[in-house]
Formats: sequence, structure tokens, C-alpha cells
Amino acid sequence: MPTPRAYSVKAFSAAGAKTPLAPAVISRREPTGNDVKIQILYCGVCHSDLHFVRNEWGFTQYPAVPGHEIVGRVTAVGADAKKYKVGDLVGVGCLVDSCRTCPDCRAGLEQFCTDMAMTYGSADKILGGGTLGGYAEGIVVREEFVLRIPTNLNAAAVAPLLCAGITTYSPLRHWKIGAGHKVGIVGLGGLGHMGLKFARAFGAQVVLFTTSPGKTADALRLGAHEVVVSKDAAQMAAHAGSFDFILDTVSAVHDLNAEVNLLKRDGNIVLVGAPEKPMSLASFPMIMRRRSVSGSLIGGLPETQEMLDFCSAHGITSDVEMIRIDQIDEAYERMLKSDVKYRFVIDMASLN
Ligand code: NAP
Ligand code: ZN
Ligand code: ZN
Repeated sequence: MPTPRAYSVKAFSAAGAKTPLAPAVISRREPTGNDVKIQILYCGVCHSDLHFVRNEWGFTQYPAVPGHEIVGRVTAVGADAKKYKVGDLVGVGCLVDSCRTCPDCRAGLEQFCTDMAMTYGSADKILGGGTLGGYAEGIVVREEFVLRIPTNLNAAAVAPLLCAGITTYSPLRHWKIGAGHKVGIVGLGGLGHMGLKFARAFGAQVVLFTTSPGKTADALRLGAHEVVVSKDAAQMAAHAGSFDFILDTVSAVHDLNAEVNLLKRDGNIVLVGAPEKPMSLASFPMIMRRRSVSGSLIGGLPETQEMLDFCSAHGITSDVEMIRIDQIDEAYERMLKSDVKYRFVIDMASLN
């Protein structure tokens, strides 16, 4: 296959783990086949962007352009594209390709395909080098990996649904959380605040666990029935052995054993937070109550569209703080201090 023609877009890119993001010009392929060419309007800022840019997971290749909560407008399509037309409001999340034939792909679980390509940090099989994410003017993606954005919602506040939204929606759906379940959400950041909204919408009794007592009023407004300050041993003890399900969204190493003690017999913790270093887990509290600790990765394309449509029907969006692209490093520093209310979103017009 001949290499497709490429064009240039403005972006913000990191040259190394210790260098701040800076303006850059990157290449995108001209749309061919069923490609959709998208002008990016908004891009959410996920804690994964920060882990990745600073090489905290150890696999970052530079230059690195993060961003996987993309909302934009279609400006052109390839000759074989059928799903979208110029002018449509569309989204791109964490995935831009997969093999499309393996059992995971056929089940709509493309996130588990061993040959999937993430929006940033994967090999770009078409242009070479690494895939480059959404802190940019535009992106070109095959139509199977493009989502339809509901037009009844604020488009900037929809952007975080493409990662924070689906990452919390998917495990709550997979473990069939609803009325009659007592659910804990750990950490009130980008993922956590969406977890509160979804767990509440699904009918569960919802408790937020936070290290930030100052977030209590917000947590109650966002969907928690109750708030527990996780550093307070007495508050933790009052909930011991009472949870069916806990969704852990914490971005840093923390005390997992304290969370295990909150579970009922057969209760389950799902880790979606991805700290830089491993965490320790004591066997006995797991063994004695047949408890489990598991994990979950974003969600596949069909479920991501289902989540967006659910949000459209129920008026659910992210609580966002808009920033200019040149404020990104300041936003990362605030994120590290748990000072996000509750997702930063870049207004991409600020690239110009
Ligand atoms: P975020 O907005 O920074 O929120 C993380 C929250 O964790 C903070 O607001 C804070 O909440 C809590 N926290 C931070 N440090 C802590 C510590 N040392 N001990 C206890 N709690 C602490 O981050 P995010 O964007 O929601 O992402 C959260 C994590 O999920 C990241 O590791 C990210 O890479 C990962 N992630 C995973 C997936 C997946 O598919 N599995 C997808 C997206 C993101 P309080 O102030 O309430 O304590
Ligand atoms: Zn993310
Ligand atoms: Zn596959």
C-alpha cells in the first residue's frame, strides 16, 4: 500500500519526560478509505495524559502528544466512509484502530484486542512513528473508531465522557450495578465524578471515599448519598464489611487493604486508577470473605456509543473547567494536587 499523503496540523507536544509541553507541528494522513477527518474543538485532560507525558508507565516515546477525550467536527471523509458526513459533531476516545477480526473485536471489546492502537502512544502503522493524540488542531480516524456526539448536550462537557465517562460506565454495567447495591467510589477527580453520576443514575446507594474533606459538598451534589474521608479511621470502620462493589479511580499508590476491609463477603473492588508503582495486597482479608480485586480498561466502541446515548437521554455531562492550551502544565500541577473540578478541558481554538 502506498504511503498516504500527509498534511500538517498545530499541536502541543512533549520532547521528553522533564520538558513541558510546547507548540509543535505534526503530520496527519490525508483521509482515504473510510477515514474521517476531524477539526478538534475540545479535548479533555485525563490523568493518563500526565502519566504518559512524564513517562511514569515507562513506555513513552517522544515526541509525545497526549489527549484522548476529543470532540470535533467532520471536515472531510474518505471515499468509502458511510457513517459520517462533513459538519457532523463527532468524538474520538482512547482507541483509533484494532484488528477488527479477533474474538475481542467481534464482541465489541476492541480495548482488549492485542493489536489495538491507542489514540496516542501506539505504533502508527500508516505514517510510521507513534500515534499522536488530541492536543492538536485535527485528527484523522477510521469511521469504526469515531463516535456520534449527542447534539443536546454541551459539547465541551461531553469531551471527558470519551475516557472518564466510559471508564466508569463500563465496569458499573459489566458488574450489573443497580438498585440494592451499596457502591463506593474512591477518589473525586475526573473519573470519580463520572463514577458518582453513573452509579447514582443506575440506582445504587453511593458513597464517595476521598482524601479531600473540602470536596464533600460537591460530592453530594454530584450523586453521593454519603462521603467518607478515607484518612479517618473511625469513619472507615463504620463502613467495614458493608460494600457490594467499589470503583477505585485513584491515580497514586494508596492503601488498598483498607478498601478490601470495606467489602462484604463476595464483594469486589475494580481498579481503574493506574498508579506508577504496584500496590500491596494482604491475602487473609481476601480469603476469609471470598473478596476480589479486579480491573477494567475504558470500554469498547459499541458500549462507548451506548454510554453517550445514555448521557444524552439522562442529561449527564462532565463538570468541566475550560483552559487554554498554554495552561496545560499548570493544569497538570493542579491535577497532581487533587485540585480539579472535575475535569480540565482544552478549548482548542486557543492553539491559534
Ligand atoms: P484525577 O482527576 O487526577 O483524579 C484522581 C483522584 O485520586 C484525585 O482527585 C484524588 O481524589 C485521588 N488521589 C490522588 N492522589 C491520591 C493519593 N495519594 N491517595 C488517595 N487518593 C488520591 O485523575 P483521573 O483522570 O480521574 O484518572 C485517575 C486514574 O485512572 C489515573 O491513574 C489514570 O491514568 C487512570 N485511568 C485509567 C483508565 C482505565 O481504562 N483503566 C482510564 C482513564 C484513566 P480525592 O481528592 O477525592 O482523594
Ligand atoms: Zn483517559
Ligand atoms: Zn482484535
